[in-house]
Amino acid sequence: MAKMYYEKDCDLAKLDGKKITIIGYGSQGHAHALNLKESGCDVCVGLRQGSRHWAEAEAAGLQVKTVAEAAKWGDVIMMLVNDEVQAAVYQADIAPNLEAGNALMFAHGFNIHFKQIVPPADVDVLMIAPKGPGHTVRSTYVNGKGVPCLLAVEQNATGKAYDIGLAYAAGIGGARGGVMETTFQDETETDLFGEQAVLCGGVVELMKLGFETLVEAGYAPENAYFECIHEMKLIIDLINKGGVAAMNYSISDTAEFGEYVSGSRVLPYEETKKNMKAVLRDIQDGVFAGKWIAENKNGRTFFNAKRAQLAKHPMETVGAELRRNMLWGEDTDLDTASN
Ligand code: NAD
Ligand code: MG
Ligand code: MG
Ligand code: MG
Ligand code: MG
Ligand code: MG
Repeated sequence: MAKMYYEKDCDLAKLDGKKITIIGYGSQGHAHALNLKESGCDVCVGLRQGSRHWAEAEAAGLQVKTVAEAAKWGDVIMMLVNDEVQAAVYQADIAPNLEAGNALMFAHGFNIHFKQIVPPADVDVLMIAPKGPGHTVRSTYVNGKGVPCLLAVEQNATGKAYDIGLAYAAGIGGARGGVMETTFQDETETDLFGEQAVLCGGVVELMKLGFETLVEAGYAPENAYFECIHEMKLIIDLINKGGVAAMNYSISDTAEFGEYVSGSRVLPYEETKKNMKAVLRDIQDGVFAGKWIAENKNGRTFFNAKRAQLAKHPMETVGAELRRNMLWGEDTDLDTASN
């Protein structure tokens, strides 16, 4: 069983007198910076000169410096720029400003595990990885709750890396939900697998194929959107609250019977598992990481083409129209235009 920590195991005071720098003000960055500030920590945000987030962070009451100045200022430096630019940002602006005894933190293990960033031996290297989107890290904190986090320590130069990680998890509210101890390797591999096979890759493909099947059979696209996309969240919310049993309790017995009869027709057990294992192997062997690093070096042609293609898919255009009349989106700060 994994080791779990909760608020009672964390001492926020371990961050007393420490200056905390958050590099980046995107999904995770804004949430960590604001939550830590409201938990009483001394926080600064590091951004590029001219970043559209500069004024936004200042308006939220945060101090903002350039990445290099913020890295120099901070004792604890959390890397919350996109994974694919972290190595360049680290080389240019962070490494020259790291001091012995500083803590370098990450919210995902990619760059340390795949050795895109190799910090000096005299700094702590650790991870607090929230298991949820940044906007949820923020909204749950505001509501007195928290998104569970993973904690991993790669280098414990000061002997205090665990204290800092647990205090940080408490500061962003994550310890309210629970902090599970892991390693950079396990976090990296399981995070990549989860998002590729199930959460993002698997779910989007499943919804798209379901939507297309209904539309190709002559049903209204709006109807297909409601059945295969809109209801996904409602079903997942039930599973999130009480497991599959809670969902099955809430859905009709007809739906539950259909679940048993057709689920494995759509996702054949042996074949799907074989494909999932192949995806996992590519992650473990570094094949996926190599592809992603190369894609960024080559101007992201595949990535950009796929993104443009998906934006034109009727499941997206029909969905956008229908969602205009469903005023229950809570994440009003989700800025998909810039993402
Ligand atoms: P994001 O794309 O939402 O935001 C990145 C921020 O970095 C933006 O503000 C961008 O303007 C800034 N930035 C980009 N290039 C920069 C540069 N050269 N110099 C300075 N700033 C720059 O990123 P995110 O999704 O919050 O991801 C941050 C980290 O958190 C990643 O390691 C990611 O894997 C991890 N993470 C993200 C989520 C999530 O829900 N998005 C969940 C868990 C962990
Ligand atoms: Mg994840
Ligand atoms: Mg991820
Ligand atoms: Mg139904
Ligand atoms: Mg039922
Ligand atoms: Mg994104």
